[in-house]
Amino acid sequence: MIRRRQTRSLLLCASMLPVLLFSGAARADETAPARDPKQPVNEAYTAKIKKYTTAPVFTSPLVDYLPASKNVPAPDTVLGDISGAPGILPYAEDVYKYMRLLAKASPRVRVFSIGTTEEGREMIAVAVSSEENLKHLDENRARLAKLADPRTIKLDDAEADRIVAQSTPIYYITGTIHSPETGAPTALMELAYRLAVDDSPYIREIRDGVITLITPVVEVDGRDRMVDLYRWHLAHPKDFYPPLIYWGKYVAHDNNRDAMGVTLKLTENVLNTYVGWKAQVLHDLHESVPYLYDNTAGDGPFNAWVDPILTDEWEMIGWRNVADMTKFGMPGVFTHGVFDTWSPGYLMFIAAMHNGISRLYETFGNGGADTEERTLDPQEYSRTWWRQNPPFPKTLWSQRDNNNYEETGLLTSLHFFNENKRLFLKNFYLKSKRSITKPTEEGPAAYVLPADDPRLELQTELLQVLQKQKVEISRATSPFTVTLPAKKHKKSRKKDDSKDAEEKDNESISREFPAGSVIIRMDQPYSRIADALLDHQYWSPDDPQKTPYDDTGWTFGELFNVKVFRVTDPKVLEAAMEPVNEVRPAGGVQGEGTIFAINNSAEPALATLRYKLRDASMEAAEEPFESGGKKFNRGSLIIRGVARSDFDRAANETGLHATALTAAPSVKTHPVRAARVAFVHTWLSTQTEGWWRIALDNLKIPYDYISTQVVAKTADLNAKYDVILFPPVGYNSSTTAIINGMPMNWGNPLPWKNTTETPNLVGKNDSTDDMRPGLGWNGVAHLQSFVAKGGVLLTATDTSRFALSIGLADSVTLGTSQKMNIVGSVLGARLVDAASPIAYGYDEKLSVYCDNGPIFTLSSIAGGRGFRRLGGHSASRPTGRGTVDDPDFTVGRSGTEAPEEPTSELWEYPQVSEEQKRNGLRVIPPADRARVILRYANNKDLLVSGLLEGGDEIAEHPAVLDVPAGQGHVVLFSINPVYRGETRGTYSLVLNTILNFDNLNAGRTIIEK
Ligand SMILES: [Zn+2]
Repeated sequence: MIRRRQTRSLLLCASMLPVLLFSGAARADETAPARDPKQPVNEAYTAKIKKYTTAPVFTSPLVDYLPASKNVPAPDTVLGDISGAPGILPYAEDVYKYMRLLAKASPRVRVFSIGTTEEGREMIAVAVSSEENLKHLDENRARLAKLADPRTIKLDDAEADRIVAQSTPIYYITGTIHSPETGAPTALMELAYRLAVDDSPYIREIRDGVITLITPVVEVDGRDRMVDLYRWHLAHPKDFYPPLIYWGKYVAHDNNRDAMGVTLKLTENVLNTYVGWKAQVLHDLHESVPYLYDNTAGDGPFNAWVDPILTDEWEMIGWRNVADMTKFGMPGVFTHGVFDTWSPGYLMFIAAMHNGISRLYETFGNGGADTEERTLDPQEYSRTWWRQNPPFPKTLWSQRDNNNYEETGLLTSLHFFNENKRLFLKNFYLKSKRSITKPTEEGPAAYVLPADDPRLELQTELLQVLQKQKVEISRATSPFTVTLPAKKHKKSRKKDDSKDAEEKDNESISREFPAGSVIIRMDQPYSRIADALLDHQYWSPDDPQKTPYDDTGWTFGELFNVKVFRVTDPKVLEAAMEPVNEVRPAGGVQGEGTIFAINNSAEPALATLRYKLRDASMEAAEEPFESGGKKFNRGSLIIRGVARSDFDRAANETGLHATALTAAPSVKTHPVRAARVAFVHTWLSTQTEGWWRIALDNLKIPYDYISTQVVAKTADLNAKYDVILFPPVGYNSSTTAIINGMPMNWGNPLPWKNTTETPNLVGKNDSTDDMRPGLGWNGVAHLQSFVAKGGVLLTATDTSRFALSIGLADSVTLGTSQKMNIVGSVLGARLVDAASPIAYGYDEKLSVYCDNGPIFTLSSIAGGRGFRRLGGHSASRPTGRGTVDDPDFTVGRSGTEAPEEPTSELWEYPQVSEEQKRNGLRVIPPADRARVILRYANNKDLLVSGLLEGGDEIAEHPAVLDVPAGQGHVVLFSINPVYRGETRGTYSLVLNTILNFDNLNAGRTIIEK
């Protein structure tokens, strides 16, 4: 291992030499970074910069002074002290107030509102440039729009050169997406001031040559909570302060993993701003690494869909940035590092996927504005080839130091970008052009989503994501035929495999798609993002990168359970088609009659409909049936007691297709009631469950959001709830942590409440007097009693481990893994019990999101120890006479053949032996064993997208289990079915559980063995 990494590092070093030669050295005639001696300095402000900077090396000639201005207010006007002063952390509102004061005082600053957050707070973008540039924003944008969409100039390079020469590029900076990373807003306030006021030639060149666009606070809801907490900490300096459990309304750190699904408002607002302004760069500011880690030029593997022109730009800008700051004598500035550039989920990747340049800084923050002595880990201060000037092992560090690094990095970046803006603008054009020539240059020509997909509502949801990503969508106006490559079969490695008949399958096939099919053309400027989302991913287990930074697979067609065809045949582009301007759900009702039937294709909107038509009677068919000339799957809904006009509207809004019938079909049914749902969270972490909450809210499924502390206090949960969802806590939280919460034997209570000191903490979420207590043993008893008395408890990943730990499923144990490594991958799964209501609407094959299990193993014996059951049956026999299939013999004795060993599949219960049945008090009766709904595919078919290593340890094991417990059920997920807005194809496994909560045993056959 070690050798491989060393070899690789050396290779990279060598390959970077030309880049360093180009980018490391400033041209002799480049403007020096120095202040204008003729411009007066704001002496008081400058003195404080010096005072709050803890060591002279932590600043630069660009930021160690503040130019004075008679009419433009400096940040202290609003802050009461300078940017980066100890003890000062402004609310978003104060940051905006300052930016608007700037705009009022200077014609070089303008403020734009770019949307609101989930909690209704405003997001802004501040443009800073010369007065001349700001006067002509629209003309400039029209020029940039031509570079962004070269079809408008017929891909004419000479015309592009003319436009490049006239255009001013846009460099977009975003701050504080991560709420505990607190420094960016004050740095960006001061940066805006400097860019507007400073007359030094270095800054003037930036102002005249570039439009700097700034969103000082991306996660506005989280910022205000963080400032609340910091103020609470200042008011109670001797107390421990509560950890920031909520950032935005829904998710915390994962707000920087939403750039694929665009589920959050902040992503949508930044994306609209980036694309709307036709910006060239998106530079996102973070804080976690000393002192400035520019992960623009990250480690491998790089995302396969980005243009190599961009990866060159990363190296160029990143290494030059390090060089510039090193020359200022600032320690601890480096690039490359350990960040891989594979996943396109990061906010900055909006630029990478839309023909721009993505950048990200990690500077060093103290999580607030206290000045603190910071001690680093050896791996943080060690000297490596990519960090020749590492940070100090120990130092006093201030928010001002952090602001100095952020501003210096940004100013040198802006200057270098301006010096080379013709190159970067031309590259912007070239990347856009190469996106358009994709069908002929590298393929595919298009993706096709057929009109006969049984899941048109989910197809619509997928298209809506693409539309948020600004992808152009077309719809075929008549049927069309294209040639598709046949599925490739791997050649058998066995030499003796003579029957290579499968090779014949490798011929391509032609396929007709019906009118109405959706065509995502790849000859469009934003083909790159569509291709990256719809294609499959492969991360080799042999990749030198052993610690993927994030998910390794995400294929949207698979995770949405929607049919997507990758078409390389250029003929697809000649099909008759029209543009789709707005993708909308298109449901409706066909036929006449007062009974309505809706086919069940596992579309989440079925649950929306149940809660929307609260008074209607709904039933689920337990078997497939035919009625009104249509075929209906098992689980299809039969609805009565609702007026046609109401039903028409509901079907339309939900995008569901219903058939009106004059008589009810004769098929066995059970009622589908609107279950009363509790949604349980801990006070340890709310991130992973946040993705479940946003999914339910978007589907308009009501629930009570309660904490484990409320469960602990509620003895009779059945009186209030039918279903308790306990989504993953995250970070593989242990059962002990869930039960015990945070340490209680010392320290002070940690309130999460709205008070005059903390007016923003709660928002629309939950509150408590003390975050520390967990579920407790009372809570455990209440959950056990809830299930025993008929309730349904649904858990996933770490909460499934929890459910098993508290003895809710004797017939399931946790397998141990030795080499399994599944890092956010898409895996194949297979339906085991199609008659279970949890499986309603699903086909035999399904793709699921998995992040290292857990591995469920079935046991027919209560208290049975979890042991490893591997796929594939052992072919070995003891050493002896004969061939492998022959029985052995014993000399001098006639043979007694052993009874045949019973075999079972990994998703089946092992047969109970006669020996085990003797006084079999631990033998679990078949009716009390878990019902296996879904299992992982066999090892050969397990990987759909991403990284899979040691897959045999989980292959064929159960993925979703319905465990009878007392009168109720525990439904255990090994997969995470609701995740980042990306796994909509598996949402219905959860929703089916909710809708059929009191009939989960429907269709169950119990095999006595
Ligand atoms: Zn961050």
